[in-house]
Amino acid sequence: MTDLTFLGTGTSNGVPMIGCRCPVCTSGDPRDRRSRTSVVVRHGGVTLLIDTATELRTQALGIGLDHVDAVLFTHAHADHTGGFDDLRRFNELAQRHLAIYAGPETAALLRHKFAYAFEDVFPFYGGKPDLTLHEVDGPFGIAGAEIVPIPVWHGKTPVLGYRLGDLAYVTDAKDVPASSRGLLTGVDVLVLNALRERPHPTHLSLPEAVEIVEEIGPREAYLTHISHELGHREAIDLLPTGILPAHDGLTIRTCP
Ligand SMILES: [Zn+2]
Ligand SMILES: [Zn+2]
Ligand SMILES: [Zn+2]
Repeated sequence: MTDLTFLGTGTSNGVPMIGCRCPVCTSGDPRDRRSRTSVVVRHGGVTLLIDTATELRTQALGIGLDHVDAVLFTHAHADHTGGFDDLRRFNELAQRHLAIYAGPETAALLRHKFAYAFEDVFPFYGGKPDLTLHEVDGPFGIAGAEIVPIPVWHGKTPVLGYRLGDLAYVTDAKDVPASSRGLLTGVDVLVLNALRERPHPTHLSLPEAVEIVEEIGPREAYLTHISHELGHREAIDLLPTGILPAHDGLTIRTCP
């Protein structure tokens, strides 16, 4: 069995947005409070963090996360990497290097944006992230757990989703190529991004996400990376059976 906890389910501004008085930003439903998109997955005996969202510190405190075996990056946009420096706390707790995984373009951007973390290794853990960066170009293993990268397009930005056994997590996609849809065949649980009802140039809309989910045909699907244009309750009402909006703190699992 694989399980996944949503640390954050909001688009890049987060919800509520600073200074917005719209119905979703002022909603009393706690599920309408969305921090930046990230998840933690427990798969094959390892705990994997996917992305280091802006609120990583408060997200980790919120679910009592004090150990990760590795970090998988989808891409290097600010909302997915804003909490990068907080990885040093996991070094300090475990007293060891932390393995991180990213596609080649994302790896280059991480080395550039967070150069201090990859230079001058400290003689102790905790002052800065101490990381071993692995570039991903196909399926790989972490302590025996197999992980299959799922390449998707986010406008012109290449992004990796990840399949972990019968669960797949894909965010910040606008286009899921046929070859990648093939890699998703047979998943029990699919997580996919859906920004809002109307189209967007670099993110799937709600109808576009539903179409992909229906083609893949998982038992359950959850939508993430949602903007303030879509309330949680409204999304439930719009979606067909078997597809639900995710919310911060939600844990889902595959059928054992
Ligand atoms: Zn994003
Ligand atoms: Zn708003
Ligand atoms: Zn992005």
